[in-house]
Amino acid sequence: MAFSILYWSNYTAGTAKLMRKSETAVQSEHVLKFVYDRDAQFIRGIVQASMRDRSYQVTITLGSNYTVEQSTCECVNGMDKCHHKASILLYGYKNLSKTDVRQSWIKHPKSAPPRQTKTMEDLFPAPDRFINYR
Ligand SMILES: [Zn+2]
Repeated sequence: MAFSILYWSNYTAGTAKLMRKSETAVQSEHVLKFVYDRDAQFIRGIVQASMRDRSYQVTITLGSNYTVEQSTCECVNGMDKCHHKASILLYGYKNLSKTDVRQSWIKHPKSAPPRQTKTMEDLFPAPDRFINYR
């Protein structure tokens, strides 16, 4: 089960600036941390600000029909829509989809993985350069 692009496209719908800025942020690897709790439909992430000395914590609770039910961000626009939240959604689409594909390739069909919540953090611990980002 992949993370749908619809979360991002619904969130940024009609707002070209949000789309563009979040695409740039993901391409520039500004998403420093991303943890997805699939059961709770909850995402927590850290996005680097455009100015390099800051990063913002973002939380997103996904709703039904590929919507964002609740979200917070530490930036000045954090109560409203901001491109940090959009970046997290786009990052989820790009990376969780890939992860799911990769997992299905690696795992032997007969050794099904235990049914427990794995976050991106568990699967891919962030390298030091992400944690101590300068
Ligand atoms: Zn923000």
